[in-house]
Amino acid sequence: ETGLRDCLPHLDVGDAFELLGKFSLSDCSVNEEDRKEMKEDEAARQELIAVLGGHAVLVSAEDAEVKFAPWSLRYSGHQFGVWAGQLGDGRAISVLATLDPKDPDSVWELQLKGAGRTPFARSADGLAVVRSSIREYLCAEAMYALGIPTSRSLAIISLPDLPVLRERTEAASIVTRLAPSFIRIGSFEALNPPAQMFFFGGGQQAADLDALRMLGEWVSDNVLRVPRNGGAWGRAIVLEATKRNARMVAGWQAYGFMHGVINTDNVSILGLTIDYGPYAFMDVFDPMHICNHTDGEGRYAYKHQPAMIMFALRSLLTALAPVIGAEAELGNKAVGEGWAKDVDEEKIKGWREKGIELVEKEFETLFHAEYDEAYGEHMRKRFGLKNPADTDDSALFAPFLALLADQRLDFHLSFRHLATFRPALLSPASADALAAFVETFFGFTSDPGYLQRDVATQSWLRWLEKLAARVEGEVEGDADAALEKWAERVRAANPRFVLRQWVLEEVIARVEADAESGKRVLGKIMQMASSPFEQWGAEGDERPDTELDAETKEERR
Ligand code: AMP
Ligand code: MG
Ligand code: MG
Repeated sequence: ETGLRDCLPHLDVGDAFELLGKFSLSDCSVNEEDRKEMKEDEAARQELIAVLGGHAVLVSAEDAEVKFAPWSLRYSGHQFGVWAGQLGDGRAISVLATLDPKDPDSVWELQLKGAGRTPFARSADGLAVVRSSIREYLCAEAMYALGIPTSRSLAIISLPDLPVLRERTEAASIVTRLAPSFIRIGSFEALNPPAQMFFFGGGQQAADLDALRMLGEWVSDNVLRVPRNGGAWGRAIVLEATKRNARMVAGWQAYGFMHGVINTDNVSILGLTIDYGPYAFMDVFDPMHICNHTDGEGRYAYKHQPAMIMFALRSLLTALAPVIGAEAELGNKAVGEGWAKDVDEEKIKGWREKGIELVEKEFETLFHAEYDEAYGEHMRKRFGLKNPADTDDSALFAPFLALLADQRLDFHLSFRHLATFRPALLSPASADALAAFVETFFGFTSDPGYLQRDVATQSWLRWLEKLAARVEGEVEGDADAALEKWAERVRAANPRFVLRQWVLEEVIARVEADAESGKRVLGKIMQMASSPFEQWGAEGDERPDTELDAETKEERR
């Protein structure tokens, strides 16, 4: 609608990838040598910016007449548990899907978020503001650095002359994000909407079984790459999406990430964290924390996240169920070979019930198994442990988290502090050092007046015995050297830098106030978010030393 196709200049696909490699993530963080090289490529760089800014389209390297039409995909979904009909994609426009030049087995889809209206924009403007773009740009890379599956950020473009009307007028900004695919659970739901009462958008929309089949086959072959043997790909898609999403949400829980809007249209078929909105990282550990202020009832509170991912997967199963149920009957009959012709509602209903019956138990069991395994892996890493417990890891994890919750301690600072623990602290000779070690935890509380130090100290001592036993159980050979290695592992798994709300607020304010200096701060924060385990700032000061204002830093803490 904005005439994207006809804008000039065009950019060669090959050049684009070469340049994308060069500008990786943000041109604020490139070194001097790269910067020199970039100057020579200034014209190409401008073309790249035109493409990523939504003003130009890519053309084929072989044939300049071949233009790549940007595309957007249709999807529907359940929002806050309620069917919401067709939703998008109203402001995401993909410009290229191509093989990764470094890894020919991987495909990357380049998508601009906020580059203008799409056929699915409904009455909205298709734009994104600086605030939301910066939030997505930084967090995707922060998640990647923590080892949690996510879309990636490639670039952020600001369009200061394009005003966007929100609660106030803001400047427009576009994030270029990358993923092997942006297909969501809602993409399947759009083709098989649940039965609705009449007042939802006028009448029942019928299931489009042919379309569902085409999408399913395409996703099996190109996205999830699950075999289509014997036509059982519907089941394979559900199970693969289950496995991946279970592992993803295990990462969220282990690292205190809260998504905020786990609507089925925001849950990737690939199990990637996508669509960063009102997300937050946990500060003080509170299992009921709600990061989305429109989520009054806490549907998407931290503690509920695994169940909400499960809800989304169940919606995927429901959407695919008639196809799964029909597979046994129809075998591998292709689209157009009479599949789904002349079938009535009764028949579809039968297939659906059969499909759900076939997969229901299996996918629930699989979800829990994958979730437990991935959560255990992440958490053991955070405690510096290499091996699972003989009996049950949660005997160590759960009481630690309960201590944080009871004493209102900061989640990440408490984890990071574990690196200074040594089992020898528990010997009677080390009483003072032990007291100091525990006292440091108390410094992480949001509520010193509430803390009952005697009780809290006793609880810590009981838990530290458990930790000491686990750590000592893994020590072989020279104990001191082994314990140093253990501490090293703890530091390598517990971020020194966390992309907290106050950091985001500050970066956004800086960029809005002054583009040039703001860009430098943004680059710095991107660098820190991308290597969160490094010792940023002064030794011994576990707080990030950014260019951010020291006073507001203290205030916001
Ligand atoms: P969200 O809850 O942010 O995932 O948004 C739900 C859907 O609303 C998205 O999938 C978009 O398609 C659409 N949407 C949100 N903001 C805009 C916008 N500014 N312009 C067009 N569509 C939008
Ligand atoms: Mg969304
Ligand atoms: Mg959104």
